[in-house]
Amino acid sequence: MTVQILFAAKEERWAQYEAPLRRALEGAGITDYVLSRDIAPEAVDYMVVAPNGPVQDFAPYRNCKAALNLWAGVENIIGNPTLHMPLARMVDHGLTRGMVEWVTGHVLRHHLGMDAHIHGQDGKWRKDIPPLAEERRVSILGLGELGAECADALRYLGFDVTGWSRSQKDLPGIRCLAGEEGLAEALGTAEILVLLLPKTADTENVLNAERIAQMPRGAVIINPGRGPLIDDDALLAALDEGRIAHATLDVFRTEPLPPEHPYWAHPSVTVTPHIASETRDETASRVIAENIRRGEAGEPFLHLVDPKLGY
Ligand code: NAP
Repeated sequence: MTVQILFAAKEERWAQYEAPLRRALEGAGITDYVLSRDIAPEAVDYMVVAPNGPVQDFAPYRNCKAALNLWAGVENIIGNPTLHMPLARMVDHGLTRGMVEWVTGHVLRHHLGMDAHIHGQDGKWRKDIPPLAEERRVSILGLGELGAECADALRYLGFDVTGWSRSQKDLPGIRCLAGEEGLAEALGTAEILVLLLPKTADTENVLNAERIAQMPRGAVIINPGRGPLIDDDALLAALDEGRIAHATLDVFRTEPLPPEHPYWAHPSVTVTPHIASETRDETASRVIAENIRRGEAGEPFLHLVDPKLGY
């Protein structure tokens, strides 16, 4: 039987993904297939989706065996009441490695105090020697696909790494914590805090005024997770008071971040435009093809989202 695969993401993504998907499908041994942006809903076996794509009503796709998300974050699709098929999110080698590079780069910027030399070319011979990484405590909230890899890379560089997740983890060389007490400990020791949690009902405003107050004075916050993890007013107040020395933010409640938003002009905030990491078409296409292969072979899908947990 011909496998019918609907590509339900924006048009520019079709141009980007069509050829890599065809290569990956053939690499996975799927040769009898249709891959198109236009297939009658009841004929669709699988759909490649993006939350901002053309399909918002999943009900007519009643024979669809799985929706395969192009992105890691699923908060804009998992709550869709018409989504009746399993949803797999993106876990992609390229996406993960990109995040590791972005996170280690920004942690090292703050750890080494690079800004003093990049912005401070004023003739003063500032000879402040930073501590070694092993004397710097970094906490990561979220020890999933991305958080665990970032924790491992930071540990490899020598940082003293603590991680926090919903379920208790056991990762070599990382102090793994869970639960409310674990969160207090992870925050209380965080000279640099990295947020790599998904946006769910439980994680919204996880970094509120009370929790920011638990962090050491002068700590740095780095958020490549999702904007709503942070209570923006609480963060701005902590930055204004100098309790938080700097925030490097890649994600926001409203994206693009509106030009009038106080983050843009704040001297202690670095805004990056949701570029921490991107799904890479060649490697991501292989993940999608592998899930289609699994579906056809009756094997369990990879990276399924738990609708109850929302991630
Ligand atoms: P993941 O594998 O699902 O990991 C999520 C982690 O968060 C897990 O460790 C999970 O705990 C933990 N978690 C979830 N809810 C929690 C809660 N209520 N309390 C404590 N811990 C909780 O996700 P991922 O692939 O690492 O991606 C993480 C997020 O990064 C994505 O959801 C997305 O928002 C963001 N992201 C951003 C970019 C960017 O360019 N800025 C790119 C890709 C992804 P358990 O391990 O116990 O389940």
